[in-house]
Amino acid sequence: MKTALEWKKYYLSPGFRDHYIYSGTDLGVSCSDSGTAFKLWSPSADSITLNLYHEGSGGRPYQSVPMERMEKGVWSWNSEECLHGVYYDFLIRREEETVRSADPYAKACGINGRRSMAVDLRKTDPSGWEEDRPPEKGPEQIIYELHVKEFSWDPSGGFPEAYRGKYKAFTCPDTTLNGDGIHPTGLRYLRDLGVTHVQIMPAYDYGSVDERAGDEEFNWGYDPVNYNVPEGSYSLDPEHGEVRIREMKEMIQSLHRQGFRVIMDVVYNHTYSLDSWFQRTAPWYFYRMFDDGRISNGSACTNDVASEREMCAKYILESVLYWTEEYHVDGFRFDLMGLLDVDLMNRIRRALDEKYGRGEKIMFGEPWRADNSAMEEGAVPALKENIRLLDENIGMFCDDTRDAVKGSALKIRRPGFINGAEEKEDDVIRGVSACCLPGDYRAKAPSQIITYVSAHDNQTLWDKLAETLPDADETERMRLNRMAAALYMTCQGTLFFLSGEEFARTKEGMEDSFNAPITLNRLDWVRAWKNRELVEYYQGLIALRKQLPGLCDKSEHAAERIHGVEKEPGLIRFQVDNRSCLGAAGAEETNGGSRWQELKIIYNRGKSEQAVPLDQSGWEILCDGENSRLWEGRCPAGPQVNVPPQSVMVLGLTEASNAHGDAEQTADAAGAGDSQNSVRDSERISDSIWRKKAV
Ligand code: CA
Repeated sequence: MKTALEWKKYYLSPGFRDHYIYSGTDLGVSCSDSGTAFKLWSPSADSITLNLYHEGSGGRPYQSVPMERMEKGVWSWNSEECLHGVYYDFLIRREEETVRSADPYAKACGINGRRSMAVDLRKTDPSGWEEDRPPEKGPEQIIYELHVKEFSWDPSGGFPEAYRGKYKAFTCPDTTLNGDGIHPTGLRYLRDLGVTHVQIMPAYDYGSVDERAGDEEFNWGYDPVNYNVPEGSYSLDPEHGEVRIREMKEMIQSLHRQGFRVIMDVVYNHTYSLDSWFQRTAPWYFYRMFDDGRISNGSACTNDVASEREMCAKYILESVLYWTEEYHVDGFRFDLMGLLDVDLMNRIRRALDEKYGRGEKIMFGEPWRADNSAMEEGAVPALKENIRLLDENIGMFCDDTRDAVKGSALKIRRPGFINGAEEKEDDVIRGVSACCLPGDYRAKAPSQIITYVSAHDNQTLWDKLAETLPDADETERMRLNRMAAALYMTCQGTLFFLSGEEFARTKEGMEDSFNAPITLNRLDWVRAWKNRELVEYYQGLIALRKQLPGLCDKSEHAAERIHGVEKEPGLIRFQVDNRSCLGAAGAEETNGGSRWQELKIIYNRGKSEQAVPLDQSGWEILCDGENSRLWEGRCPAGPQVNVPPQSVMVLGLTEASNAHGDAEQTADAAGAGDSQNSVRDSERISDSIWRKKAV
């Protein structure tokens, strides 16, 4: 019996690389009316038997056939029949042992994913699927993170009883609070909110929940079993493999119809257990280990998938392409992207761009890992410090801005800028320009940065505010919640938030609710109604954001729009060139879509009002700490504005006021626009930051 290290040596040998890297894209089962083909990559097998079953679990095979060894470690068996709905697994004989395995390339499976299923995918398409298209991309991508079960489980959501916690709930476009017909919940609520992307937490088949269980089991699902199959516990019928496929497609179709793009949360960095279909079909090929034989565990989930090995990289790439092609998924959020390698991430980006157009599918991930990982020599991890090696359309969650705004996610009592920490101003300013200024690392463009203050991990924003400000009353906490929102929504990165942040979602202080009861994790639609003033504040901010090209700009020149940065403890001011196209002449041409050529943004986290003089006339207040819809009317500012305590104020200068003639003459403004001055401009931005620091 080979040890893990001996396997590793074997896989790294030229003999293996020359003979067993299969370049075909037909692994798994292809099934149609013209027949069914089974193909499995298992290079070290001595023989393989394919078992066919009528049931997805239990029972005995109705037929067992030997598979034929093909080239490159591939085994195959063909039938002239369409075996749609037939379940299967493999008996693999290797080194005098026989192991049973389901198919790592399976597209369908029985309950709990222990047996695979042959599927004719055309039979799973809901009606109208061929016409399904994502909505057009708007000026900004605003991502709302939610979990299938959390979304509709609470009875107050007004979903049909049978659909609660299921994919099917997303096919109900017009639910209301307890079905009262008045107060929107679900998708109608999200339409009103104005988010553009719905990010679904893991919805591939995961292992931590028994699909037969009901409300007694809950998990976020970061524990993949079958990467290319939808999770069964969200299906009305997890027993029959084709049902969950159709229901997930219906969910995506409905989200598209309601105006949302759909992002899938993918966890290619580790599997539920080391005893996976990967391991059973090709022992240790898909996992990393250190040279001393220790199993790599940078995921803190017992194993790390070896993304840098060709057959593994190819698996991940094809999986991503499968979800886009078969399920019409519009983007991907890569869990612990720091465990995947830069080459693979760029390869996925290129493949998506070639197929769908540059940047059309959004891609981003967590640029970190829980611990070191035994990545092979030469491979570079997709960590924050390697951001410049990644394509400009691969984004990263920006934990630095998150922590600068509201305090460390990990040290729960530590505050950030808004809740009283000293010397966070520079970090906040860096966050405004989406880390495109010089620093420990520097993004190529805001398209590489996901700006956020809450996600499923760690405390909710509301709970974090409670933890860091135990003496603050509810009024003050609401004020700071609004401030946090207005602050990150005036940063240039792509925007992201956890579902319910906008209604002061609480998990009663819990930091990691991955397997906490659904009663704690569920979206509380009564709370959404009770805290509707906060929800409306978010709505206004989101609607305003979409009209501010200066903040939505994701190009490499976006940072040049930020100028006139001034700061003192607890107070930050800056201006943004808000013309839609930098450097071009003629306001009519360049400012299409926005009433304001120039923005002035002020963050006052102090407990007293701050008077800020305005250098010229023509400024309007677009948003203050109470009202994010002042822009709907006209709210002219005088020669100075008084910025209330713990609030953000956004001002806009109308076209008629000729912002750019004046702005360039003001002492502290760094000469907005004018692309030929780009180098000088960015120097001036950093100048002004450092000058203030020195004071
Ligand atoms: Ca499952």
